[in-house]
Amino acid sequence: MENAFSATILNWYSAFGRDLPWRRTRNPYAIWLSEIILQQTRIAQGQAYWERFMAHLPDVQALAAATEDEVLRLWEGLGYYSRARNLHVAARQIVAMGGFPDTLEGIRALKGIGDYTAAAIGSIAFGIPAAVVDGNVYRVLGRHFGIETPVGTSAAKKEFTDLAQSLLPEDRPGDFNQGMMDFGALQCTPANPACITCPLAASCAALREGRVESLPVKKAGATVQVRPVTYVYLRCNGQTAIRRRGPGDIWQGLWEPLTEILPGLEPHLLKSGVRHQLTHRTLIADFYLAETDRPPALPNGYQWIQEAELDRFGKPRLFELLLQSLP
Ligand code: SF4
Repeated sequence: MENAFSATILNWYSAFGRDLPWRRTRNPYAIWLSEIILQQTRIAQGQAYWERFMAHLPDVQALAAATEDEVLRLWEGLGYYSRARNLHVAARQIVAMGGFPDTLEGIRALKGIGDYTAAAIGSIAFGIPAAVVDGNVYRVLGRHFGIETPVGTSAAKKEFTDLAQSLLPEDRPGDFNQGMMDFGALQCTPANPACITCPLAASCAALREGRVESLPVKKAGATVQVRPVTYVYLRCNGQTAIRRRGPGDIWQGLWEPLTEILPGLEPHLLKSGVRHQLTHRTLIADFYLAETDRPPALPNGYQWIQEAELDRFGKPRLFELLLQSLP
């Protein structure tokens, strides 16, 4: 469907869209990888990870053949590790299918892919006319069309998806979707949008009615919990003790140091009150170092490894922070 709104977005995207390496290809693996990495990560940080993955695991066969430890290590520092685990599982699904699925339903059926990511990959890699709806799209559409429905409700999801779908130009769905994301990230930004230079200003309801600040309407957010954490780095004859996190949490498959002070050890405090922000939780960590010549009995699940081997184990960011604070 040709309409003034999408024509403006497409023109703007041609002139101002970001030049990113995964936009220079139609390779679904490269595009999928970028979408998963960028789900919770800023582009500047995500690009380095994308390049690392493409260098080490250049295609879906390589990713499927990698071990979980290899994948988690490449992912280390990005957070939300379930993304990496799902990526790995999905690579094996794709190889078992004999190739990357090229329908929306096929892509949606892969592990770790929701409506948004399926529409993004489908439209960009295969030209499937499916509109994406993310925070940027809510903001741009909410402001331009003056929509009051609170974002985060199922009513909003339906309303914004239907609207985005009706605006989608069938011949360039990938460019339109990427144009909307960039437009929301660069022009119609959450704070201080650049209305003065905006090519949609003449038709923008929020600008006309003085509602730019109040749109889109947000639903009250989830509360953030605070959780204390104790991390003890044990050093004993060139070895340290770590354990792998079990299923059922965000750090599943990653390795962590001792999380309690063992009897008989007299660790000294390295840092207190280190804040680490997760989606719905703030961790406040105390870091200790315990040095001893006599190996203590380790709690369940822990194993000794050479300190020099620590690099080989995938670790959450908080553990990296502990390592950085070691003398
Ligand atoms: S005029 Fe301002 S609020 Fe309206 S679409 Fe443009 S940047 Fe966004």
